[in-house]
Amino acid sequence: MSLSDEELERYARHIVLLQVGGAGQRKLKKASIAVIGAGGIGSAAIPALAAAGVGRLTIIDSDVVELTNLHRQPLFSEADAGKPKAQLAAAFVEQLNQFVHVAPKQERITSENAAELLAGHDLVIDGSDNFATRLAVNEASVELGIPLVSAAAVQFQGQVGLFRSRPCYRCFVGDAFDAEDCDNCAELGVLGALTATVGSFAALLSINSIVGIGEDQLGRVHIFDGETLDWRVIRIPADPGCRACGSA
Ligand SMILES: [Zn+2]
Repeated sequence: MSLSDEELERYARHIVLLQVGGAGQRKLKKASIAVIGAGGIGSAAIPALAAAGVGRLTIIDSDVVELTNLHRQPLFSEADAGKPKAQLAAAFVEQLNQFVHVAPKQERITSENAAELLAGHDLVIDGSDNFATRLAVNEASVELGIPLVSAAAVQFQGQVGLFRSRPCYRCFVGDAFDAEDCDNCAELGVLGALTATVGSFAALLSINSIVGIGEDQLGRVHIFDGETLDWRVIRIPADPGCRACGSA
């Protein structure tokens, strides 16, 4: 997969980096990423991935824009209220970078359709806001063997982790959340700039993972405290009894 003269110029500040170079930029062009949720996390991650030259983006979100989204979702403007987020985010990507193929899916991802929606991607970023979606996405990612970057932000707490088959996201959170379908942001509030921090971090982690920059982050969850501004890292061991990835 080669880069045109226009792409070489466009990505010049990437390509000059020793860790990226032309080979890394071609890996990004070849990559296909599914982003679940065009909300606060997606609003930061989607533009970063599109600008970076990720070749294919699938944006999955069933919601329409509401006024209460705007403090953390700068992908959208006041005039977008009532319009579907997936389509708006895809239009944003098309305007930003003609070299990105973007596919909007205005669907709610569930355990019934997750495998079908995610098949064929090289990486999944889950920026959804509820455990039912996160666990369905995790199960499908494990089944398909697709690396999962799981990102979440609520109040002043953010977390981003990379999972690839084992350990998986369920090894991290266990089975306590299956019955819940909580919309954290709606109930608890979240600082808009925190979701942007977490979304940008998820994009960086994804890009590094695809290009092969830095240490493998598999099984590490990065936790950010938006009040103290501290990051810390926890390592997640594989749970032998995990319902998603254990003894499979
Ligand atoms: Zn697991």
